[in-house]
Amino acid sequence: MIAVSGSGIAGLAAALAVLRNQKPLLFIAGSKPATDLPGGVQIAANGWAALDQLGIGDAARARATNLQAINVRNMRSAATLASLELGTSAYASLSRADLASLLETEMAAGGGGHRITANITHAIQRGPDHGKRLDIITDDGGAYCVDALIAADGLRGFGRNYVHGNDGVNRDVAAPPSAGRVAMRAVVQAASVPRFFAQPYCNLWLGQGAHFVHYPLHGGAEVNMVLTLNAANADDSWQDRYFGQNEILSLLCRNTDIKWAKTPLPLHPYYDCWRRGRVVLAGDAAHPIPPNLAQGAGQSLVDAASLLRWLDVDHLDNALSGYARERSEAVGVIFKKASFSSKIMALGGAAATARSTLIGLGGAPMLNSWLAEVWAAA
Ligand SMILES: Cc1cc2nc3c(=O)[nH]c(=O)nc-3n(C[C@H](O)[C@H](O)[C@H](O)COP(=O)(O)OP(=O)(O)OC[C@H]3O[C@@H](n4cnc5c(N)ncnc54)[C@H](O)[C@@H]3O)c2cc1C
Repeated sequence: MIAVSGSGIAGLAAALAVLRNQKPLLFIAGSKPATDLPGGVQIAANGWAALDQLGIGDAARARATNLQAINVRNMRSAATLASLELGTSAYASLSRADLASLLETEMAAGGGGHRITANITHAIQRGPDHGKRLDIITDDGGAYCVDALIAADGLRGFGRNYVHGNDGVNRDVAAPPSAGRVAMRAVVQAASVPRFFAQPYCNLWLGQGAHFVHYPLHGGAEVNMVLTLNAANADDSWQDRYFGQNEILSLLCRNTDIKWAKTPLPLHPYYDCWRRGRVVLAGDAAHPIPPNLAQGAGQSLVDAASLLRWLDVDHLDNALSGYARERSEAVGVIFKKASFSSKIMALGGAAATARSTLIGLGGAPMLNSWLAEVWAAA
């Protein structure tokens, strides 16, 4: 039996991969709901390829909104710096709730496995004499003996600490806790904002120490918005400070239909070891990718597609090490690019002006050369 922990996008997708392999599944959903991030995610070509491999590409496309271009704009002047036409390439937004419910439906159709709602607190690895099996202990007093655990239990779950903290030290806690960035995010009915915001584009506005992303969901019925800024600037006047800079964004200022929620964006280190014995990581537990390249959920889907292939391999230890090696190498590249992008987008002062000038000069070819490698990574 294979256990999967976590009921976020990564856990649901990994559980589906186990069921698609006709393996008995123990699904440990976690006693708290998945990260409270309403709204949507942008999924690029690599995420869509993974959804196809999991057999749910068409069903997901039916719920998705195609985005025709990524427009990079100057927050101060509203000028378009670069516009990357996406043509027929797969780039679309999807609501998180739709994606989760689609994965749940497919899991149920595949038998669902045995599901419990609890948090893992411990795991004890048995030796070769006991088939290298794993005892999993949960906070409701449960104990389960499984062949392997795919820990997709997020940044603060059991898995990340078990795999990386084998000296008893949780390195995430010891690491610098935060670069002091936060996201102000909202999903608003399109009728509550000017029509511009519901057009089928991803708009990325680059400002001084802040950037703002918005794109439509549900065919333009809703608009997903995220402004990323320094925590110290998320005060009562943040809307005036950033949206007040140009006449398009100022239409959002103090719109009481938009209910903004603040999400801290702490930085977490990336470790390229994804496996300890019969435990492997998936999703944010393995790769806390800064959201600047919109790749965290997409890479979680690619994790699941990789598991789908590797779990078909005869020997479980070979399958787990093959998966961990393949994915940790591929994600390392994405993580570096996303971390660099987050620094570029956070620039202020003259550096921000130089950045915007450079993007204006480089235009779509520069954006394409930066993103093509990310979107191809699978
Ligand atoms: C502002 C923002 C915008 C983003 N935009 C995009 C985007 O456009 N495109 C994209 O691809 N990605 C995007 N992302 C990233 C994406 O949201 C995440 O990568 C993804 O949601 C992570 O899913 P997950 O399942 O790994 O983790 P989570 O959603 O955190 O789920 C973790 C699960 O583990 C469970 N759990 C916790 N502890 C335990 C335990 N001890 N035992 C068992 N279970 C446990 C929890 O209950 C939960 O169910 C964005 C992120 C942010 C912050």
